[in-house]
Amino acid sequence: MTTVFDALESDVRGYCRVWPTVFDTARGAWLRDEHGREYLDFFAGAGALNYGHSNPVLKAALLDYLGRDGLVHGLDMSTVAKRELLEAVRDLILIPRGLDYKVQFPGPTGANAVESALKLARKITGRTTVLNFTNAFHGMTLGALAVTGNAAKRAAAGVPLAHAHPMPYDGYLGGTGELGWIERMLDDSSSGLDKPAAIIVETVQGEGGVNVAGAQWLRRLSELVSARGILLIVDDVQMGCGRTGPFFSFESAGITPDIVTLSKSVGGYGLPMALVLMKRELDQWAPGEHNGTFRGNNPAFVTARVALEQYWRDDHLERATLAHGDRVRAALAKLAEAVPGLSTRGRGLVHGLVFSDASEAGKVSRVAFEAGLLAETSGACDEVVKLLPPLTITESELDHGLAILARAVDVVCGDRG
Ligand code: PMP
Repeated sequence: MTTVFDALESDVRGYCRVWPTVFDTARGAWLRDEHGREYLDFFAGAGALNYGHSNPVLKAALLDYLGRDGLVHGLDMSTVAKRELLEAVRDLILIPRGLDYKVQFPGPTGANAVESALKLARKITGRTTVLNFTNAFHGMTLGALAVTGNAAKRAAAGVPLAHAHPMPYDGYLGGTGELGWIERMLDDSSSGLDKPAAIIVETVQGEGGVNVAGAQWLRRLSELVSARGILLIVDDVQMGCGRTGPFFSFESAGITPDIVTLSKSVGGYGLPMALVLMKRELDQWAPGEHNGTFRGNNPAFVTARVALEQYWRDDHLERATLAHGDRVRAALAKLAEAVPGLSTRGRGLVHGLVFSDASEAGKVSRVAFEAGLLAETSGACDEVVKLLPPLTITESELDHGLAILARAVDVVCGDRG
């Protein structure tokens, strides 16, 4: 039977093809389809649902705000919801970490935040080139796509993607020489590289296959670019808001980026919202120089603020995330040990099960779906099953999902185990 999705929705749709059901409701770490079948969520809205679906504390605040006709659409007008959010960002996130950032509200997507960051870096430095990394993912708009690695996504741009230059990510050359290459290219006046405005980096490349940059590598990268007057942009759209444990994914490396992008989970309830944080002296925007109709999603400001108050007043969530991460790491290590051709990597509560035969990752994801688990694939050849559960998941839910995954691996690779 042809559905309205097949008949009417553009062929560009993707996730519905790997998870072919019609979802209806969701709570915590569970989604339910229209037939009442439940699926455990190791996907978390691609990182937009760190606090789980329909989080009751956030929902109560949202319903209260809507119930009293709280302003919904506000462009960049000052509102009570925005004031309370800014105060929470200052008091719960910035001051405790000794960060002196100003806060920009761009349009609500990750790509909006990345575009703003790139524009700002170019405006400040007067330079055009931005360095990016192999396997990077920063979004689908032209500026963000220019600093994204994936060839198929780049090809869809339809125009040349300019003013970006890829550099080897940590581990890309086998773990030695990546920073040396960057240094050489920057310092050799005949390398052919124009002096860049900025370098944009993910501390863990989520879409690129759960590639983890080492803390020391990030520190040395930060020193290297800072010494040369090049701005460091950390794209924390997917790894921020606690995914790796601390609120920002760069905290454990002890670096302070010049510019930080946040989106996905920052809105708290899966509501669209993004932030660009920039060192105070880098706030060189002129009023109205960058804008966007949906910069003032006030219901998201409410859930964002309540999420900060609920989860970032103390280190409970951070410790739980790290403990959950250890549990996932141990389970994956067991799988990788038992089955030839498998390896594993990750940090905090983002982990990847890497298949030397890329086609097996897709098969495992499909078998897991049939058994009631959502886990997507990522990486250059979709060779990685990426595990991104909500941070608020329980231990028993984690174990349940890991058991489904282990059975799926057994179904697909059993003859080797
Ligand atoms: N940056 C990173 C690191 C991302 O993972 C993503 C989305 N996967 C984006 C930017 C783009 O975000 P959006 O899809 O909301 O535009």
